[in-house]
Amino acid sequence: MRHNSSKNLNVPPSSLLNATLDQERIALTRNLDGIDANIYKGSKIVISDIVDPYHNQEEFENRYVLRRLFYNKCAYCEKYEFKPDVEHFRPKKGVTNPNGNKHGYYWLCYNWSNLLPACSNCNSGQGKWNKFPVLGLRIVNPPISNGSLLKEHCNLNCSFLLEELPKLLNPEIDHPENFIRLKWNGYFEGIDGGTGVKNDPNNGRGWTSIICYDLNRGNLIFGRKKAIDNLTKLFEKAFALFRENSNVESLVFLLLKGYETLHNMRSPTCEFSFVLEYIFNHFENYVNECFNDLKLVEKKLLKQEFLKYQNSI
Ligand SMILES: [Zn+2]
Repeated sequence: MRHNSSKNLNVPPSSLLNATLDQERIALTRNLDGIDANIYKGSKIVISDIVDPYHNQEEFENRYVLRRLFYNKCAYCEKYEFKPDVEHFRPKKGVTNPNGNKHGYYWLCYNWSNLLPACSNCNSGQGKWNKFPVLGLRIVNPPISNGSLLKEHCNLNCSFLLEELPKLLNPEIDHPENFIRLKWNGYFEGIDGGTGVKNDPNNGRGWTSIICYDLNRGNLIFGRKKAIDNLTKLFEKAFALFRENSNVESLVFLLLKGYETLHNMRSPTCEFSFVLEYIFNHFENYVNECFNDLKLVEKKLLKQEFLKYQNSI
């Protein structure tokens, strides 16, 4: 999961603007049956962007806009997902909450800030589904004043909603790297408290998000480990060649190519970019832990040249 500030919350897709009146009606009448799961998909458009995998096809506008904003990736696990669910961060109909009120945030069903693109695995029963744990007091009624829904209290980044203290990380609000760290075997680990055991009440937002979004499922661990290994192999090859030809210039050139690859792959447009960003920011630890076959002097050179590269960009 990477922080993403691409979305302009004040400019929802046109088909969502049309649903605003519906949202107010639902908020005022509490007509839960009025939440038609199909309405928020909005009108269909023809995608004219030739680099889009759905080029020249009809697509729901909201899903198309969300997919572009998240670079064709799931907002939670960063896997490429060309047909994501339009996921409600605060669940619209019901919340899994064994200790109290279970109805959802129906007045946010069409709110642009509440919608994220998610893959079916992250959004499944095994994943987030309609979970929304909070540390504070859950808001159970829409913010209404003088018969109108207070729109300024419906933006997910407003203090009214943040006072619930959501335990799940939202990539548009939070910076996941402050709560989650990468282990060199591809697993994620929470760093703001807890053990990662499912029902540990001390689990912080990191562990709670990892568990709720199911971010340590097999294919994600595999993908993250592969991203680490692919980079490691580049540097190992450079040193293997140097042992054959003793050409320092060529070695430095190949290391530079490796650093450039790392830098390019940490772009949020790339799959599992959290991994490469993490390596970039913890390069010394990465070298110490991931290169069993390098001599100490080689590791030292790999770190030294990286510092030079880092200062040059
Ligand atoms: Zn996902």
